Amino acid sequence: MEKKQTINFGAGPAKLPQSVLFQAQKELMDYNGIGISVLEMSHRSSDFNKIMKSTETLLRELLSIPDNYKIMFLQGGGSGQFSAVPLNLIGLKQDRCADYLVTGTWSSKAAKEAEKYGKVNVVHPKQDSYTSIPTSSSWSLTSGASYLYYCCNETVHGVEFNFIPDTHGAVLVSDMSSNFLSRPVDVSKFGLIFAGAQKNVGCAGVTVVIVREDLIGYALKDCPVVLDYQVQAENNSLYNTPPCFSIYIMGLVLDWIKNNGGVDAMETLSKKKSSMIYDIINSSNGFYTCPVDVLCQSRMNIPFRVGKAEGDEAVEKKFLERASNLGMISLKGHRSVGGIRASLYNAVTVEEAAALASYMKEFLKEHQQ
Ligand code: PLP
Repeated sequence: MEKKQTINFGAGPAKLPQSVLFQAQKELMDYNGIGISVLEMSHRSSDFNKIMKSTETLLRELLSIPDNYKIMFLQGGGSGQFSAVPLNLIGLKQDRCADYLVTGTWSSKAAKEAEKYGKVNVVHPKQDSYTSIPTSSSWSLTSGASYLYYCCNETVHGVEFNFIPDTHGAVLVSDMSSNFLSRPVDVSKFGLIFAGAQKNVGCAGVTVVIVREDLIGYALKDCPVVLDYQVQAENNSLYNTPPCFSIYIMGLVLDWIKNNGGVDAMETLSKKKSSMIYDIINSSNGFYTCPVDVLCQSRMNIPFRVGKAEGDEAVEKKFLERASNLGMISLKGHRSVGGIRASLYNAVTVEEAAALASYMKEFLKEHQQ
């Protein structure tokens, strides 16, 4: 019997481009003819040095990262950066105060972590639910704040910024874990950008940190050495053993992005894929509902309910079961919000998004009869 094709709509770790998996498989036992795997290679060998260099060069090229920014490949995930950011940057100004925009689970966790190291000011009125971005006229930024932090795409709630917050001169920090390289970004507007790789640019294990050079060197004295940007930058991310294989996979993914038109093409595709799903939600007469304000609906993660606005759990269960029978997996919403979530990262093809759209249409038709 022919195996049915699996389509992975998972939020992360997520789908990788097929050609990347093929290449990794081909090279797994013998990388580049040297007789060993990247998994077995010294992180100080010249072969691994070449992998690191080419990965960094590709990233610089794809995002046009200016020369006065350091790129680091670190362990500890996005959550590690929730600590590393305040540990390294909250001491930039005497007051040890940082401004946070809290628009979902991930920025909320980051703000909570930062409270351990200084004063945190959530700049807008508290929200009852994470379904919109508080209008900037309601923000009250702290004069003398060390930085303003926000999460560019809230993976759980499906809230995405389509603008760069105005910091009025403060250093801007962004968690781009779940929309990294899905569109162009003017890096020069940021003090620091970080992104865990396991959604749009690779597999779990490595987190990219892009930081402006003049912000390095202000770590609090209690900062663990592996999280200290100065130490890691001076050692080209090799102070401790880096996640070698994850960096190698990221290099392959970056190459794939470049060969597929770069970040401009990724943006065009992401709009096309997400529109297919939002169009069905919007034309379903309330059978499907996405609670997120249209102004900030994510292109990457689309949370929605089925049956009625607050979700009919029996219908949603059926939706997931039928999807799974069709090979469409990992569509269950995050446990904190329930319902369905379709993640449409770079590696998810237009055809795969179209297959989901077509299934949603069919499911709707059946339930409207
Ligand atoms: N930031 C965002 C936007 C995320 O989606 C996640 C995880 O899904 C994290 C941070 C935390 O990443 P990690 O699990 O690698 O610590």
